[in-house]
Amino acid sequence: MKLENKVAIITGAGSGIGKETALLFALEGARVVVADINEKGGSETVEEVRKNGGEGFFVKLDASSREQSKQMAGEVLERYGKIDVLINNAGIVQDALIFKMTEEQWDRVINVNLKGAFNCIQAVVETMVSQGSGVIINASSVVGLFGNVGQANYAAAKAGLIGMTKALAKELGKKGVRVNAVAPGFITTPMTSNVPEKILEMMKEKTPLRRLGEPRDVAHAYLYLASDDAQFVTGTVLSVDGGLVL
Ligand code: NAP
Repeated sequence: MKLENKVAIITGAGSGIGKETALLFALEGARVVVADINEKGGSETVEEVRKNGGEGFFVKLDASSREQSKQMAGEVLERYGKIDVLINNAGIVQDALIFKMTEEQWDRVINVNLKGAFNCIQAVVETMVSQGSGVIINASSVVGLFGNVGQANYAAAKAGLIGMTKALAKELGKKGVRVNAVAPGFITTPMTSNVPEKILEMMKEKTPLRRLGEPRDVAHAYLYLASDDAQFVTGTVLSVDGGLVL
């Protein structure tokens, strides 16, 4: 098992990629903290983890809240006494062309995707530094690397996460903490469930591996970066996109 006895916090683990990651990490021996704004989805993930013989618990978290992020980390420490892995996976989209994008759409997307990661990192970083070990993984996107029409807010947040990842890799490496990002391409989850069939076919055509991504594709990338297999890897952005942007 690749994560035996590790304690892993996964934000946004009530759905899609985060849920798949919680299930995979638990099978790999981790105790998983399912931190999500969605109580129903989060509780269902924990139920499945336990059904598979794994261990974990749910914490209701709006990652954009500094207070809730701090509280969540406190609960994890109280329960498990350490924090080995933080995956800042919670994310939202609120798309609009720039002429029409409201201040609320801009703020919410930045606050959840980018500031949410900052909040959770600040909530765990002292613990990781005092342990002399820890892994932080941020969910960026192909959109953060290459942009996308109608997603100026999301692209800015996901590009911001890449900058933050690199800055923190430099800051925290000597303290034994690794910081990396993943940049998924198009992954079939509730976040992308409204995309018309015609666009999906076009995406497949454009992807050298000729299929859309599945949550397990990203979960396995998270697993690699979280495990000791990646012990000399920090500050990187791992694309998981079937070659979409080659
Ligand atoms: P998803 O299925 O929509 O799951 C996201 C989860 O995060 C949901 O349970 C959601 O709850 C929760 N969440 C939303 N706001 C939150 C907040 N403020 N605090 C805590 N949890 C919150 O999304 P996904 O497709 O698995 O995406 C996971 C990550 O990968 C995101 O960061 C996304 O931007 C990134 N990503 C996805 C794709 C893709 O194609 N799917 C591509 C590139 C990157 P609700 O359901 O109640 O909103």
